[in-house]
Amino acid sequence: MAAEPKPEILAAFQAAKGFMPVAEGLALYDAAAEAAALGLPLLEVGTYCGRSTILIADAARAAGVTALTVDHHRGSEEQQPGWEYHDPTVVDPEVGRMDTLPTFRRTLHAAGLEDHVVALVGRSPQVAAVWGGPLGFVFIDGGHTDEHANGDYEGWAPHVAEGGLLVIHDVFPDPAHGGQAPYRVYLRALESGAFTEISVTDSLRVLRRTGSGT
Ligand code: SAH
Ligand code: MG
Repeated sequence: MAAEPKPEILAAFQAAKGFMPVAEGLALYDAAAEAAALGLPLLEVGTYCGRSTILIADAARAAGVTALTVDHHRGSEEQQPGWEYHDPTVVDPEVGRMDTLPTFRRTLHAAGLEDHVVALVGRSPQVAAVWGGPLGFVFIDGGHTDEHANGDYEGWAPHVAEGGLLVIHDVFPDPAHGGQAPYRVYLRALESGAFTEISVTDSLRVLRRTGSGT
């Protein structure tokens, strides 16, 4: 049976600003809960305002592990002013650039999950380059260019422990439904022979490490 978040966690998730639909969020929660049983940290790339972080953090809390979430908080290409996913309420007027960190902090505080999350503020490849330990779960939901999606895979997938999960969001095999970079990274993970698909929920793919390498 799938692990499900408590009603108050689901309500906090639904109230949070962000890009994770409910059905995919429930699949994310279930994967995070399963992986948390390995006793290793769970890591997300692409915090934004903390919507998906709530679910990963609650799964981490229940298992007594830590959730890590990486973002430079300056937004992806498609979130910049003038682009489709821009939200003017997350611009820092003093700096004149996006800053989703304050909203993320409020989101986590409202959900009562601050104690279970370590926010890593920086560029994903730069953080990955100084990260040394194994992870039970890596969720890739950062930049959607090939450069960023490949960088996330190359930086973080090697840290997924045997039996751990690699979860990729925004996988669209049909180009009519969305950009192809996350799909190409998903194919790359499968072709590596290191990962086996265990579930598909809309654009969310859950893979398990069943072999070595990346
Ligand atoms: N998981 C979120 C949505 C993430 S949106 C939710 O559930 O709502 C993608 C995020 O990735 C943006 O906040 C952007 O700032 C971040 N991002 C994009 N490229 C990045 C990179 N190279 N390093 C760190 N963060 C990056
Ligand atoms: Mg996404």
